[in-house]
Amino acid sequence: MPVTPRPGILDIRPYTPGAADAPGVANPVKLSSNENPLGCSPKAKEAFEAASKKLNLYPDGGARKLREAIAEVEGLEADRIVCGCGSDEILQLLGRAYLEPGDKVVQSEYGFLVYRLVAMTSGAHFVSAPETGCRASVDALLEAAGDDAAIVFLANPNNPTGTYLSGEEVRRLRAGLPEGCLLVVDEAYAEYVDVPDYETMLPMARERDDTIVTRTFSKIHGLAALRLGWAYADRSIIDVLNRVRGPFNVNLPAIDAGIAAIRDIEFREKSAAHNREQVAYLTQQLRGIGLEITPSVGNFVLIHFPETTGKTAADADRFLTARGLIVRPLVPYNLPNALRLTAGRADDNRKVVDALTEFMAA
Ligand SMILES: *Cc1c(COP(=O)(O)O)cnc(C)c1O
Repeated sequence: MPVTPRPGILDIRPYTPGAADAPGVANPVKLSSNENPLGCSPKAKEAFEAASKKLNLYPDGGARKLREAIAEVEGLEADRIVCGCGSDEILQLLGRAYLEPGDKVVQSEYGFLVYRLVAMTSGAHFVSAPETGCRASVDALLEAAGDDAAIVFLANPNNPTGTYLSGEEVRRLRAGLPEGCLLVVDEAYAEYVDVPDYETMLPMARERDDTIVTRTFSKIHGLAALRLGWAYADRSIIDVLNRVRGPFNVNLPAIDAGIAAIRDIEFREKSAAHNREQVAYLTQQLRGIGLEITPSVGNFVLIHFPETTGKTAADADRFLTARGLIVRPLVPYNLPNALRLTAGRADDNRKVVDALTEFMAA
């Protein structure tokens, strides 16, 4: 007889990662998971290779040297940082530590899918705040939160839309949330943003004891394979996360590579500059062939397709896949007419533009 999990667990639809292959195509171009097309810092790779000589050893369970390196580079306190097996693990741990069945969890309509999984795993009640133009609305989030939200998740910038809230808007959101409500600001793409009114909420997390900022090594640092993320918050929150995390949740090669990566400012800047140029190129070219593109501050663009037969997002996805160009369909996000395209290497981006030009003209 099958063993029964907690109520709600079997309602969870497992997360579908971006596809990695295109049937029948030998070397497809993967532009479906917002990975860094420039790879990672050569210094991180070197540190990872050196770590291969220490695979018999347990890592430092507190990842102290990594936290110190992050603290130094970001101007933070090492004892207010916790590292995780991807920022994803930290999001899961927050659910485990702070949610009870029936608690209210709020996110924006097209927010990152993982937040829903976190809520469902804890049996929490999930409320989605409507967006206008694929952009989070502070008023809608506050209305959804009401006076009893336990956690509000905000990806800023958001994936898959690429849009953001200004520093002023996030502060207004925080000010309007009920007391005792945890605000999680997921800044997975913060390092890419290049607009004057965007602000990281690290200073807010320093001032308050109810707000946490998460960051990742998977995007600009190009270490998605190693699963490494971190969060910054009040010591009371970090203490809680340290109690619920696994004792060795971050592995040794990830710690060593992460230390080298966070110190390699040059690689980070090179990645950001490349991305700026390529997102601008994709936005301009794709608009030029009549597609609607949501303005993005991330390392990807959201492309909206017509609903005309033969020209839909699903048709475009098939057309691109047949040419070895893998993008992300957004049906699970309730955006069936859109595809998300990661800004890749310049030559790959050109291939996507050429293919979509052909697709739209056909
Ligand atoms: C990619 C991404 C992350 C990073 O997840 P990791 O577990 O650190 O790889 C977190 N949040 C959002 C919104 C993302 O798009």
